[in-house]
Amino acid sequence: MTQQHDNPLLHVEQFPDYARIAPKHALPAIEMLCESAKKRVDEVLANEPVAWSTYEKLEEIDDKLGKAWSPISHLHSVTNTDEWRQAYQACQPIISQYSAEMSQHSGLYQFYCGLRDSQEFAAYTAAQKKLVADAIRDFELSGVSLSDEKKSEYQALVKSASELYTTFSHNVLDATQAFHLHITDEAELAGIPESALALYRQLAEENGVEGFWLTLDFPSYFPALTYADNRALREKLYYAYNTRASELGENGGTFDNAPVIEAILAVRSDLAELLGFANYAELSLATKMAESPAHVIQFLDDLVAKSKEQGAQEYAELLTYAAEVLDISDVKPWDVAYVSEKLKQAEYAISQEQLRNYFPVPKVSEGLFAIVGRLFDVQFEATPTLSTWHDDVLSYTVKNAHGDDIAYFYMDLYARQGKNGGAWMNGAIDKINSPLIKQLPVAYVTCNFIPPTEGNVAYLSHSEVVTLFHEFGHALHHMLTTVPHSALSGINGVEWDAVELPSQFMENFCFERDVLRDMSEHRETGEQLSDELFDKLIAAKNFHSALMMLRQLEFSLFDMKTHAFYDAHNPKNVMQTWAEVRDYVAVTESPDYARFPMSFSHIFAGGYAAGYFSYKWAEVLSADAFSRFEEEGVYNEQVGQSFKSEILERGSSRTAMENFVAFRGREPNVEALLRHNGIGS
Ligand code: ZN
Repeated sequence: MTQQHDNPLLHVEQFPDYARIAPKHALPAIEMLCESAKKRVDEVLANEPVAWSTYEKLEEIDDKLGKAWSPISHLHSVTNTDEWRQAYQACQPIISQYSAEMSQHSGLYQFYCGLRDSQEFAAYTAAQKKLVADAIRDFELSGVSLSDEKKSEYQALVKSASELYTTFSHNVLDATQAFHLHITDEAELAGIPESALALYRQLAEENGVEGFWLTLDFPSYFPALTYADNRALREKLYYAYNTRASELGENGGTFDNAPVIEAILAVRSDLAELLGFANYAELSLATKMAESPAHVIQFLDDLVAKSKEQGAQEYAELLTYAAEVLDISDVKPWDVAYVSEKLKQAEYAISQEQLRNYFPVPKVSEGLFAIVGRLFDVQFEATPTLSTWHDDVLSYTVKNAHGDDIAYFYMDLYARQGKNGGAWMNGAIDKINSPLIKQLPVAYVTCNFIPPTEGNVAYLSHSEVVTLFHEFGHALHHMLTTVPHSALSGINGVEWDAVELPSQFMENFCFERDVLRDMSEHRETGEQLSDELFDKLIAAKNFHSALMMLRQLEFSLFDMKTHAFYDAHNPKNVMQTWAEVRDYVAVTESPDYARFPMSFSHIFAGGYAAGYFSYKWAEVLSADAFSRFEEEGVYNEQVGQSFKSEILERGSSRTAMENFVAFRGREPNVEALLRHNGIGS
């Protein structure tokens, strides 16, 4: 047993001491901190007045636990050793239990209601008022204000929803795994790239057979559908994939999600009603920027109207190309990805690997820091003295124009054994400025780029450059905040359909000619990116953009209509809703047997229920915000200052709509997104 006074997780101030934190510290720290936090919350509520100073005490309790948990979950995701996995898994139920208890804490709920009704409330800042209102809303959405009888009804519904989500996922997984194709003749797989063939060989070997083993997992399914010259093979796979977890297909009925979806929609409808909402879509939107289901549907319909003609044109071109060049005169759904890829290669032969020669990491970071520094009037200073978890990790200080420290961040850019895949930003430390705590925000920017070889620098593909800018946008949101309360600072409390605004906003710079030129230097020739390559890059980006837009709109409209128009007395078959949506959105064909909703895990098993539109919503916000830079100058420092002070600094101290309008001078519209996607005139 470690001595607690030696436990570095119990003494985190401005920075966790990563080099000293070991898996053995995790469980003792979390056990102790959760237990003492619960005790302290009750003590504070019992002994302190209903006043803001008491809120600050509660904030301190919460922050102390957060500062121990954040490095644990971070180290677990970037150094995923057996020891860290065990330590993390041991802590997780304690943390979940603690969060559940706090979100259901009626004493805390009453405290916030007390603040709202107190004499001093009128004198609060707008941010303080919003913090109190948001807290009350979140407690009420967790059922805290219900009568005891309704509370247990609520808990039963939440439990059964979560069981149904698990059943839904298991059905999708089981249906996916129940199918395979064993192929021994390589000629049947002509056209498929070597990387996919290697996967099929490996799967065959794992299954103890010779040849190739194809499954419906995406890394197996996608290359076959996109590249296989064998049309019958594509059809077979397409049918299997699109009938997963339905009453059709080889295992039809065994993993059927139709009754599961019915049950999920019924439970969600009951939950919404219990909490006083007309339907589940309204409940979902209670914490989002979009106002109402009607508002969302109108937003999506508007995009449909503006994309449909071009989508039809793109599809017509695809049909012509298929007939004239590929000799496919009757294009079927299982041909679309295949033809599309061939057309793209023919028209815009540009590969990410070709672009990779142009973007050395040091030059890209320099370019990124230069743009951000200029627009937002900050400076970046390497700070190698900070304790980190790996030699690859770089630490930086962010300084304002006066040279004062305002934030810190770590960049952990390269893939390595044991590190989780993908790219993400996380807050390590939240900004707080209260009489009890003064701390600056600290962020992690984590990517999985190909590491440099010995003695060289690493090079990024263009899409990796975009990824870095994206994550850095999240980090700026976390770091440039000036809000002093942790519940509202940085990205905390920001409506989740607005969280991607700063990140997607930053991506736009990667499609600016000057920005790319300044960040590029060819590996061999030292040349900057040519105009010719830049133009190809833009054209390839917009290839079939209207078709892709329509596909996303289909998903979003299906999701919103399914939840907004659910009638408990007369539930409609989701396949009917799906058909009705496709009927006015889609320009491509879909066979009658396609059962897409049966495997739509985002909305039936994940957190995107009545929220799938958020992807498009955030794209609209970021494109529209960026268009002010296009109008007034991409390097316009005044516009940069305004974006910083109205959006990046504000966190959730105002609503996302108020932030947006303050920056843009009006509510968002879809024009800029359509233009950036090359849709419309
Ligand atoms: Zn993001």
